[in-house]
Amino acid sequence: MAGTITILPEQLANKIAAGEVVQRPESVVKELVENSIDAGAASVSIVINEGGKSLIQISDDGLGMNDEDAAIAFGRHATSKIQSYEDLENIRTLGFRGEALASIAAVAHVELKTRRSSDEVGTLVRIEGGDLKEQAKAATQPGTIITVRNLFYNTPARRHFLKSNNTEFKHIYDVVQRVALSRPDIAIRFTSDGEELLDLKSGDIADRLKNLYGERHFETLLPFDEKTEMLSVSGFIGKPDFARKSRVDQYLFLNRRTIVNRSINHAIFSGYEHLIEKGNFPFYLVFLDLDPHKVDVNVHPSKMEVKFADEQSIYRFIMSVVRKTLGSNDIVPSLEVNGTKTFDGSFASLRHAALPRHFSGDFGSNERSSFPSPSSSFSQEHSQQAPSGLDKLFSDIPTVQLPESAGQQQFSHGTREDEAQEGKAIWQLHNKYILSQIRTGLMIVDQHVAHERILYERALASFNNAVPVSQQLLFPHTLELSSGDFALAKELIPHLQAIGFDLKLFGKNTIVLEGVPTEIKSGTEGSILQDILDEFKNNQHRVKLDARDNVAKSFSCKAAIKAGDKLSEVEMRVLIDQLFATSMPYVCPHGRPVVVKISIGELDRRFMRTS
Ligand code: ADP
Ligand code: MG
Repeated sequence: MAGTITILPEQLANKIAAGEVVQRPESVVKELVENSIDAGAASVSIVINEGGKSLIQISDDGLGMNDEDAAIAFGRHATSKIQSYEDLENIRTLGFRGEALASIAAVAHVELKTRRSSDEVGTLVRIEGGDLKEQAKAATQPGTIITVRNLFYNTPARRHFLKSNNTEFKHIYDVVQRVALSRPDIAIRFTSDGEELLDLKSGDIADRLKNLYGERHFETLLPFDEKTEMLSVSGFIGKPDFARKSRVDQYLFLNRRTIVNRSINHAIFSGYEHLIEKGNFPFYLVFLDLDPHKVDVNVHPSKMEVKFADEQSIYRFIMSVVRKTLGSNDIVPSLEVNGTKTFDGSFASLRHAALPRHFSGDFGSNERSSFPSPSSSFSQEHSQQAPSGLDKLFSDIPTVQLPESAGQQQFSHGTREDEAQEGKAIWQLHNKYILSQIRTGLMIVDQHVAHERILYERALASFNNAVPVSQQLLFPHTLELSSGDFALAKELIPHLQAIGFDLKLFGKNTIVLEGVPTEIKSGTEGSILQDILDEFKNNQHRVKLDARDNVAKSFSCKAAIKAGDKLSEVEMRVLIDQLFATSMPYVCPHGRPVVVKISIGELDRRFMRTS
């Protein structure tokens, strides 16, 4: 008896597969251009008519094919790019499934002209709806020209599904732009309905960005280039002020392949911390390069989604690269005057504002904190410690050339004398703000949030330190907590200990505090733990935070100096110095600005000085 299962004829199978690979004209452009890139093309030309519905033609000067391959290329699963399962684990080309040409040919009129430079004569292949109509020798340039006409002519439902020419055009333009950004070394021409829209010479990524976006937009981008043993990350991120309401300008490439990955997207966004409001999207162009063995690109036919072997560390690395880039480019929430935002000033200027090195603390080291609490006196002994984190940080930072400004003569060189001299220009305003002269003008620091940022990063660092640093109390404090708080404290003990609380659970709802983090102000030991627990609960209701992060935030908020605390000059200097040794000096852990700068230029404008 005959069964009911039949094997689909190849043509029908191709037509079905085409549904996956070829969704619209843009997919044809993407697949064909990727083939050109895989063929090692140095230049690629893309010509479309009517949003690609009537014509898509891709020409390249790549390897080309011989007559045999030219015919086979349209077969299902025909590929020259992988031969074995092992190859699949180590993909270095954009294509590898061998589905694109077969799928496109199944739903359009396709003509292929191709020649290898070593062959005297090329090959022409014509296929309509998957049927081979013609194969012949043909005179043609080395490389490949593929012409796709009447897309979806034999699948009316799909054709019906297409949007207006203009919409399809925009999709194609996006694809071309993506490709252009992924491979600035390849020259690209793009023509639509007879009009040449792009003629991009080969060059580096900066050239390509300038060509596509214009010089002015390019000025708003910050470059980065970081490597670890495992991966390298390079590219550009936009200054926060230029973030847009839509995601359009976000590009992520893995080994030069366009990918979408929500986790990386999130990592980049988190790197901005609170510099970008919710609902706004920063520009980014990120090239991730890592060993192909560490990723699986074979997840989806569009090859847009990938899986990483170690997503977590990639997440952390990317976030820190974004932070460092913003930090080292001196991205400050600046004063808005008459609606104009200014971005002048640089890290270099703050470096000048930073204090004589021997005042700086030991941020990042495992030693006791050298930040003097307002009540304690600043000890010489501490002041001699080497500013380990600081020097490392400064050495990484490119010095930015600044326009001449009034304050410059006075502080033009980064010598110790200059710093000492400049260090004089520091005041406390209403026991709340620290004012300091910097090269570009005036810097205002909110002392509480500045200290919060410092303590927050210290707390985070201490989670990774094996030995917690705490200051033993002469008289242990006994705290009686509500049973809810007691349970919470019990749960948080490992984190609290890591940041320096030395505590023991004692009977019912009682805790004995034998040591506190060194940063805790004397006199507040008795109440600080309760304050932190309260803050922790507060944060918990507002946002979903990781418990450690929440402990760090609550601790920094409660232990930081407050508005109203009088600071000595030395204390102010140390505070500023340590602030700029953090990874993100300009925003506090809750997202408030820490630093506001007013440039001399701005002051001149306000005083109507025309000099
Ligand atoms: P894949 O790219 O996954 O290998 P395709 O169906 O896109 O599958 O292409 C099939 C094969 O045709 C490729 O493996 C390659 O050998 C050949 N080919 C396609 N386009 C070109 C081109 N522009 N230049 C040279 N060879 C090409
Ligand atoms: Mg391909």
